[in-house]
Amino acid sequence: MEIEFQLASEPIAERIPPPPSLGKQGAWLEFRGVVRGEENGQAISTLEYEAYPEMAEREIRRLLQEISTRHPCLAAKVIHRIGAIPVGETAIYVGVASPHRGEAIALLAEFMDRLKQDVPIWKRRGIVAAVCDHRGSGQTSKIGAHRAPLQLDEAISEIKSHCQPLPAVRVPLAEAFGRVLRETVCAPDDMPPFDRSTRDGYAILQGDASEIYQVVDTLHAADWKPRQLKTGEAVRVATGSALPCENLRVVMQENIERTGDQICVVKREAARNVSARGEDLRAGEPLLQAGAKLDAGALALLATAGNARPLVSPRLRICHFTTGDEIIPPDQKPKPGQIRDSNSFLIRGLLQRFPCELTQKHLPENFEAAKRDISAFRFPLSAFDLILVSGGASVGEKDFTRPLLEWLGFEIVFSQISVRPGRPLIFGMRPAREDARPTIAFGLPGNPLSHFVCFHLFVATALAKLIGAEPNQFRRGRLAAKLDDASNPRETLWPARWDPAGLHPLKWASSGDVTCLAQTNALIRVPANRGSIESGAEVDFLPT
Ligand code: AMP
Ligand code: MG
Repeated sequence: MEIEFQLASEPIAERIPPPPSLGKQGAWLEFRGVVRGEENGQAISTLEYEAYPEMAEREIRRLLQEISTRHPCLAAKVIHRIGAIPVGETAIYVGVASPHRGEAIALLAEFMDRLKQDVPIWKRRGIVAAVCDHRGSGQTSKIGAHRAPLQLDEAISEIKSHCQPLPAVRVPLAEAFGRVLRETVCAPDDMPPFDRSTRDGYAILQGDASEIYQVVDTLHAADWKPRQLKTGEAVRVATGSALPCENLRVVMQENIERTGDQICVVKREAARNVSARGEDLRAGEPLLQAGAKLDAGALALLATAGNARPLVSPRLRICHFTTGDEIIPPDQKPKPGQIRDSNSFLIRGLLQRFPCELTQKHLPENFEAAKRDISAFRFPLSAFDLILVSGGASVGEKDFTRPLLEWLGFEIVFSQISVRPGRPLIFGMRPAREDARPTIAFGLPGNPLSHFVCFHLFVATALAKLIGAEPNQFRRGRLAAKLDDASNPRETLWPARWDPAGLHPLKWASSGDVTCLAQTNALIRVPANRGSIESGAEVDFLPT
């Protein structure tokens, strides 16, 4: 019997082959197993399947061959979907061709009965969150989901506890800028490795007060010519030259007069003009600690120490979806009701400080259409470390970020925070699987100011954890002007300009107000129910 088998991680409806052209067969029987809305007595929205792919294929082939000895059939095609499968979608498709319908029906019945015991494809879990009710009531449970809006600190600590550093990689120095060093690097040699001249001039013995010196050698920067100088001898040296022996000083060339091979010192200086071996660092002493961000200076240091392939955080792979049918590209003129996409550029800019590969895509504001678009996407979900979805995080009719993330296999950790701006923030987690490292996801409220705040408070915290860096911390600062606000039951992150005079609260009308963003370089933390804060008061703020 001819057997074809596929494991699919995307919807399989489109993959079902047409019945083969009729030859010897008289029957082509098709079966589709569809995910039910109930698992172990509990209502579910999604069922997750896992498999050992190679073993599954081997067992399915063996099983079909064995059954076909009793019920001879001509061909069978099996497609099993794995990963998160929403209720109503096909989990398994089986097509059987046989000379008469009887054999096909018998083979299919026995195959389906034995599939569960014999083949390593199993239901991992049902996700208990109804797609039709994604208003914050249905909850997943495995990862520890929250119903009530989380306070700021609670949300941050949830994110920290769910995000672990990704495996480190070795990269050439030229690719290491902005990465986080993942091992402490020690000086392999003394730095500098030899006594070197800091001037163009003449090296003489430290205590040699001769009137006239004989120039016995000339050293250029790359020369290495050890020799013990005697009293009355001098060696011509260039800046950076390795000195020929210990206990030398260098007289600047401006302070001597030379006649032939003789010099006389016309001005004596206190300065030795030598940088001594190991004066910067001794061999074995730590040069850079694990966790250091590799900026230009750090790269210079690693290069000096000969660390040409440092162990660093990997480049993050990030996918950013924008949503909303009202969103148009910035080069188009909006019709009434339309809005130019600013979040794509905000996110792209904010991600600059995290070395990453960013993929951006706009999704239609229709759950089914969005799912189709994602299924046709050229990258599998497992290709990303982080998924960001702009907009649709709230509870409007068309807001589908939460069910979308669940459909993608994420467990939702929380979906609301008690923070202004930015209340509908979704944080989800897809645990590591055999074929993929863990992926985290954020559904960000669409308004640009909310985006900015949620990025700095939450997304940046997650990214810092993924790369093994210390997340940005709140600091104490002083208000340079009054912060004028009505009391609000939620904590507020207030956009501000931070300069040497202190923090200047900026004007913002609503979370849709982009006008303050170009000025903002800090977010002031205003406690819940606080209201206005007088100029000069000390506050917590987050530099952005
Ligand atoms: P939502 O979170 O989808 O309810 O969106 C809230 C507000 O943010 C709406 O006014 C959207 O038009 C706006 N918005 C959503 N996405 C973007 C975007 N990419 N750029 C600018 N504004 C956006
Ligand atoms: Mg929207």
